[in-house]
Amino acid sequence: MSDSPRVAVVTGSARGIGAATAQRLAADGFAVAVLDLDESAVASTVDVIGSHGGRALAVGADVSDPEQVTAAVNQITTELGAPTVLVNNAGVTRDNLLFKMTVDDWDTVVNVHLRGSFLMTRAVQKHMVDARFGRIVNISSTSALGNRGQSNYSTVKAGLQGFTKTLAIELGKFGVTANCVAPGFIVSDMTKATADRLGADWDTYLATRAKQTPVGRAGQPQDIAHAVSFLVSDGAGFVSGQVIYVAGGPKA
Ligand code: NAD
Repeated sequence: MSDSPRVAVVTGSARGIGAATAQRLAADGFAVAVLDLDESAVASTVDVIGSHGGRALAVGADVSDPEQVTAAVNQITTELGAPTVLVNNAGVTRDNLLFKMTVDDWDTVVNVHLRGSFLMTRAVQKHMVDARFGRIVNISSTSALGNRGQSNYSTVKAGLQGFTKTLAIELGKFGVTANCVAPGFIVSDMTKATADRLGADWDTYLATRAKQTPVGRAGQPQDIAHAVSFLVSDGAGFVSGQVIYVAGGPKA
């Protein structure tokens, strides 16, 4: 490894799990591309990293758009260095029971999670292969196991697990590992929106979810960042094609 830090890309890192992961990887010594839909929205993540002495680059891109993905990876390579760590975290929900789910609800979720992870991984893998080192972490979910009102979301989160296992097989010989972290209930804007949609008071909803979780609390974005930090570390080079449920209990 050269003296310059490895470059990690974390998609959807303006807030929530992505922001915590970007901050954690910067603290671990990576230079981090903080990528989200709107470049201005990542300023707070970039500022926090900078205030702790880390290096971060703000990047605006829609991961489901091939041209924006190509431009973003070119920008990262030029301004930060060739990326060899990728965390596909960007995500959206469009929950509805199947009979009410629109084609747009379906396509939006499929495009962000599956097309987005495919496009980002395809764009970054060349740098990993050139470096004979790479770490890919795809953020799945316990919803991959099935969840009422989430036929679109559970499909893509299960799909990411298959994608990950194939990446592990194709890229292993180049020193590249690919794994999934599958979070359970994590406090974020996404789960706050779910409580709103269900018409539930947030504090009551949170307490109920905590009670249903074996460790007796809801997850925090930092819980997921910690698992990602392990998977992208040098020492995790023999862990590949796996799904780690980070859910405060067994989920698979
Ligand atoms: P969040 O809504 O707080 O953050 C998601 C981020 O992704 C946002 O900043 C958003 O702007 C960005 N994003 C959305 N579409 C994008 C696109 N097309 N291109 C680039 N960025 C885009 O959600 P979160 O809870 O932090 O979730 C992060 C990831 O973790 C998601 O993949 C989500 O499905 C997954 N997850 C979350 C939970 C949970 O309980 N919060 C559980 C399991 C899995």
